[in-house]
Amino acid sequence: MEFCRGCDYSCCGSYSIPLSAADIFVISSEGINDFYYVCEKECGSDTCFNIRGKCYGLMMKMRIDGGCVFMRDNAEYGCGIHACKPSVCAAYPFVSNGGTVELMENRVCPKRRIPTQKDFEEAREAVQVLREEWALHKRIVDNWNKCFLSRYGWPALIPPYIMVQMLIWNVAARLGLFSKGKKQDGQ
Ligand code: SF4
Ligand code: SF4
Repeated sequence: MEFCRGCDYSCCGSYSIPLSAADIFVISSEGINDFYYVCEKECGSDTCFNIRGKCYGLMMKMRIDGGCVFMRDNAEYGCGIHACKPSVCAAYPFVSNGGTVELMENRVCPKRRIPTQKDFEEAREAVQVLREEWALHKRIVDNWNKCFLSRYGWPALIPPYIMVQMLIWNVAARLGLFSKGKKQDGQ
């Protein structure tokens, strides 16, 4: 996706990045560690792991100055993990709305670039991956929330649970989740 290519502003310092189970699995599979944390959330959405009535999600670690831990001055698109970046980053600033590619509401785009029809078309594949991965994430969360772990588990169990679930799903569901590692383009 070319929309952000050549932009001298990095939006990577403007967001907290939510991570799906597939993001954790794919980035970890590249041998990268220590890039996420489990945090308690207020939202109570269907993307949150429930433990004794509290909600938890996975977020990208931030640098001390507030930017994403993978922000680099000298990397392609400014991203140190471009080939396996989270699906929300690969699709940014586009999202899926019922299968339609749309611009994120409330996006940060200080450059005020206006996407062309070609930008929307180029975003289609990344948005499709985003949609599939978060649908899978919700199923994994749902499995957790329906089992004994939501009563007797603790937050540190969420990452290993995700890895086991992803191994199972990756074999069984054949969703092509490793295609992220082969991606040539993105934000
Ligand atoms: S993972 Fe890469 S694209 Fe995503 S916020 Fe971090 S530096 Fe930016
Ligand atoms: S969203 Fe706008 S400001 Fe941010 S990187 Fe893309 S073009 Fe630049």
